[in-house]
Amino acid sequence: MHYDAIVIGGSYAGLAAATQLARARRRVLVVDAGQRRNRFATHSHGFLTQDGTPAADIAAQGRAQLMVYPTVEWREGKVTAAGRAGQGFRIEVDGVESEAIEARRLVLATGVIDHLPEVPGLAERWGRHVFHCPYCHGYELNQGRLGALAVSPLSMHVALMLPDWGQATLFLNGAFEPDTEQLAQLQARGVELERGLIDRIEGAMDIVMRDGRVITQDGLFTLSRVEVASPVAAQLGCEFEDGPLGRTIKTDAMKATTVPGVYACGDAARQGGSLPLAVGDGTMAGAATHQSLIFAAH
Ligand code: FAD
Ligand code: MG
Repeated sequence: MHYDAIVIGGSYAGLAAATQLARARRRVLVVDAGQRRNRFATHSHGFLTQDGTPAADIAAQGRAQLMVYPTVEWREGKVTAAGRAGQGFRIEVDGVESEAIEARRLVLATGVIDHLPEVPGLAERWGRHVFHCPYCHGYELNQGRLGALAVSPLSMHVALMLPDWGQATLFLNGAFEPDTEQLAQLQARGVELERGLIDRIEGAMDIVMRDGRVITQDGLFTLSRVEVASPVAAQLGCEFEDGPLGRTIKTDAMKATTVPGVYACGDAARQGGSLPLAVGDGTMAGAATHQSLIFAAH
């Protein structure tokens, strides 16, 4: 086998996993397609020592520090397939399969894709005025007017949290009808309710209603449906698990998937991710992958 491990995805989770393997002097290949989930946002918040740092800078610094280790190789590209090869694995990069890209272990750190609600003007504002995580972006909205765009009854959760960050309005947009108990909860938290249908978003955050009213907000929070960014885990036969935000790769506390020799970390393998959690999971996956090279049968 050419490599001890191939890490698929070279963002926060993958970088953290590869760093542990590199520090154990193992031969690691990182393959990365360069599509970080947070590429739509300029700054990242909540990561100790990096609060407010541009998200791209954190990834670039992680990569620069990783590449100092002599046993690490980096390849830009997309892993298009993965499967068994002898007692290890072989991957295909950008449609090309080769014996040169085989490894004893795989670490899946591909992140997720966000499927956004289909409101005209919303996608263009993702990461700038439209967000999913108030911990990441709520504080900077300076206690302004904050909308929660409902996609299902799950949107109650963010709507009830928002008053800690600003003056909150729940835009039902026909997604669900709160029951008596939910109405009481919204009232107790001081969340306003907007029942009209949204036509589009204009300007910075002018919500144009179907009835012609324009409701200006400082920020809008919504839930995206997440999908693991690559079919590779499914091809390998990894089990998935369904959660409120979408389907993610099932892992144990050591970040092992249900397929021996395959580990997964970051947003692809948890509900509701963040940079610090991706780095934590990646660190665990990297150490567990390394130890399996020593203690597992193959
Ligand atoms: P990602 O960062 O998504 O990286 C996955 C990498 O794998 C990408 O480079 C991708 O191209 C690559 N990849 C995928 N498939 C393949 C393949 N087949 N072959 C090769 N490479 C592949 N979190 C915070 O902590 N603070 C914030 O302020 C914050 N702001 C956010 C703002 C927005 C708009 C969004 C959407 C998210 C934000 N997050 C924030 C969450 C954060 O982006 C994720 O939790 C984090 O990026 C997860 O890291 P990851 O390494 O698991 O995946
Ligand atoms: Mg990663």
